[in-house]
Amino acid sequence: MVIKKLKAENFRNIKSCDIDFNCGVNMLYGNNAQGKTNAVEAMYIFARGKSFRAREDKELIRFGEEGFRIYVEYEDRGGLNSLEYAFFGKERRRKKNGYKIESIKEMIGNFKAVLFYPDDLGLVKDSPEKRRDFLNIAISQCYGSYISYYYNYKKALENRNCLLKFSSKGMYVDENELISWSHYMAEYAAHIYIMRREYVEKLRVYSQNIMNEISGGKEKLDIYYKSNLKNEILDINAANEEYKKILTYELEREKIIGSSLFGVHRDDLEININGKSARLFASQGQQRSIVLSLKLGEGEVNKDICGEYPVFLFDDVLSELDEKRRKYVLEGIGEKQIIITSCEEDKNLSEEVKKIIVNSGEYSLI
Ligand code: ATP
Ligand code: MG
Repeated sequence: MVIKKLKAENFRNIKSCDIDFNCGVNMLYGNNAQGKTNAVEAMYIFARGKSFRAREDKELIRFGEEGFRIYVEYEDRGGLNSLEYAFFGKERRRKKNGYKIESIKEMIGNFKAVLFYPDDLGLVKDSPEKRRDFLNIAISQCYGSYISYYYNYKKALENRNCLLKFSSKGMYVDENELISWSHYMAEYAAHIYIMRREYVEKLRVYSQNIMNEISGGKEKLDIYYKSNLKNEILDINAANEEYKKILTYELEREKIIGSSLFGVHRDDLEININGKSARLFASQGQQRSIVLSLKLGEGEVNKDICGEYPVFLFDDVLSELDEKRRKYVLEGIGEKQIIITSCEEDKNLSEEVKKIIVNSGEYSLI
């Protein structure tokens, strides 16, 4: 998959832009606070369905304006496509190839991208939520059904939690209603569990190989999906039955606490390096290598599943990698498209790299 064009109007500090990208490596560079990440943020909205750093769309509107519009053109195996997203206060408009699409669910899975930005270094040591997000975003770009299961699970969980909260406050709760939400939760949890397990199995192989190559064979990376289910459960029906049981285990305690203690919303991705927990023991450099291996691995798995590479968006991270790892990324590019942002022009980059200078929300060729 190749992004050909990004257009934006009144998005962050961009008044108006029209940027063309090449296949291969594209470098956006400029001083701090000029609009490099803003351009990456705009593109990634189409992959993730929402901004990776704003809580609300209104933060994305250029100061003093009424709304913003962003547009991308990308080429996939099916040909040239476009996506558009506009937000004007209460009105939100999404389009694919000029036709209206109704929801985020319909948008995700069209333009596919892997983002790697400085905050991702927290993937190894931060809370499990960050690692679940990583899996959710990666898998939902590959399978439309995953997003539906995920939204349905969240809805069932919210309803179950609401009843448990009532119960914790001594209010009457209909037992049958509670069981019914538990069964919904179990059904969707089973799908999410199986899809995450299968994804992690594939990701382990690729990320392990990448880690092996960038560390010259010195570091062994291992990842596991960590959940309440026994490891041998790899079948939807068995997982569903098991979740139904698990959701009754500590029901009395859940009624006192007022929230659900078990389920895929509590799961984690366990990362080990040389047999030890990376969360507890990985050094800064090891964390960088692990995240790079996971992100490049994500691209490989998505290629296996979808038949083509997603676009790689590397915001401000390449300069943080040492020469060896930077070379690994740039020389192993093959048929991938990478968009890199950096404060400094990398003089070692080949002639073929498209260089775009960023200055106060304007993007020009050198
Ligand atoms: P750095 O190298 O420091 O990461 P950058 O080029 O990536 O810089 P951006 O994060 O893209 O910088 O931000 C560029 C500018 O956009 C910042 O000065 C920021 O304050 C500004 N900005 C953010 N949101 C808005 C908005 N809604 N309206 C106008 N300007 C905004
Ligand atoms: Mg930035």
